[in-house]
Order: sequence, then C-alpha cells, then structure tokens
Amino acid sequence: MRLSEYKKKRDFSKTPEPTGEAELENHQAIFVVQEHHASRLHYDFRLQIGSTLKSWAIPKGPSLNPKDKRLAVETEDHPLSYANFEGIIPKGEYGAGIVLVWDKGTFQHLSEKKSKLIELEQAYTDGHIFFSLQGKKLKGKFILHKLKAADKPAWILIKANDEYASNSVDIIQKKPKSIISGLSVQEFLKAHKKD
Ligand code: MN
Repeated sequence: MRLSEYKKKRDFSKTPEPTGEAELENHQAIFVVQEHHASRLHYDFRLQIGSTLKSWAIPKGPSLNPKDKRLAVETEDHPLSYANFEGIIPKGEYGAGIVLVWDKGTFQHLSEKKSKLIELEQAYTDGHIFFSLQGKKLKGKFILHKLKAADKPAWILIKANDEYASNSVDIIQKKPKSIISGLSVQEFLKAHKKD
C-alpha cells in the first residue's frame, strides 16, 4: 500500500474519510470523480491502479470535448474505499469542505506499445494512460498524459474522439448531482445543516 502520504495528511479522529484499512478486493478496476468543494472547487479524478486509487485534481473537471485539455494535477494515492466517500471534511482538516461522488464506475485499460497491450502500471510510469470509462456520466475513451518538464506533477485529461465525445454538452453543468445521494451541493449543504 502506498497510502502513507494519505494517512499522514489526515486525522481520522476528526475527518469522516476512510482510514484505508481492511480494503476489499474487487475484480474490475474502478474509477471515481469526486466534486470537492475545498478552498477551491475541483474534481478529483481517481483510477484504480493495483490496490490504490491514483488521484488527480482537475480544477475545471472532465470535458467531453476532445479539443479540451483539462489540467490534472496528480495528488496522493487514496484507498479504494474512498470511491464511496461522500461527506463533509471538517474545518481545519486537510481538504476541508464538501465531497460529492460526481461519477463512478469501472474502466478498461487500453494503452498499447507496438500494438500490444501494456500493463497499467507501466502506462502510469510512462505518463500516458489510455482507458475507456463505464460510468454513469462519463463513458468512452479518455487519455491521461503527463506533461514533460512540468515542475508540478501535471497531467492533462483529454476525451478521445468516439461516439461519447461532444463539443456541445457541458457535462459538469448538465449533470451536476451526486450519483450516490442524488443531491446537488446546495441540496447537500441544506440537508446537512445543523440547526
Ligand atoms: Mn480534492
């Protein structure tokens, strides 16, 4: 497990986030996109690689338009159970704010070298991951590509051109609600307001 950074950043006596202990094995690799209303709104895109969720923070969120290159800054690995986390990280804690599960599903890894499928770990190390998502909102092929000579661990997320690509649909605007609670962030806040 490569969760030491994840654990170091969090006080599990204060945050409701998963501790990353006792992970369940799952057979199909999963992905999740979490809408995170931290000091700055961003979308955390996480792909299962091995036994952890590799994670990227995407300020603008994913796009269905193959012309968009969405900046995706790599962050620390998260436990697999984080894919089901929706809640409020308390004030003063790392990443304080509301987390909604914006999309979730499985994915198929498609990266090739010389027309041969390579290991997902290898694609990650190479900085070029090609995959197909089967989510509730995001479907079809995407590419995560690591930018060279970047001082930050910066990648870009690009929609590949397939039948799920669109240059007119803003998926973030069109489908804003959590796939777990069915709530928008405003509705979520209202439902969790302590009075
Ligand atoms: Mn985040």
